Amino acid sequence: MVNNTEYPNLAFFYILRGIPGTIYVYPGSKYPKIICEGHDYGIHIKYASRTTWRCTSYSKCKCPAKLVTKQGIVEIHGEHNHENLMQIPKNIKAQKVTIVRM
Ligand SMILES: [Zn+2]
Repeated sequence: MVNNTEYPNLAFFYILRGIPGTIYVYPGSKYPKIICEGHDYGIHIKYASRTTWRCTSYSKCKCPAKLVTKQGIVEIHGEHNHENLMQIPKNIKAQKVTIVRM
């Protein structure tokens, strides 16, 4: 038996761990942010054909992980040096993409 209150917790669990082929976009305080494999990223540089994103823990713990997004493809560069997200931001929207580890 699964009761109603378990559904949100289950969804949170999967989002925080990361779901293959799915990223989540949410409005940051100024610019949109992305959650990918349980980590969140802010826009770093926007080019005509691609956007680079930096882990939001970059300033806190010099995390080297970055994303490059281009036309439905998300490249993950580098490894995180800290734990996954602990909380889900508000207003996240799921997007199906192809995630490639570089
Ligand atoms: Zn990181």
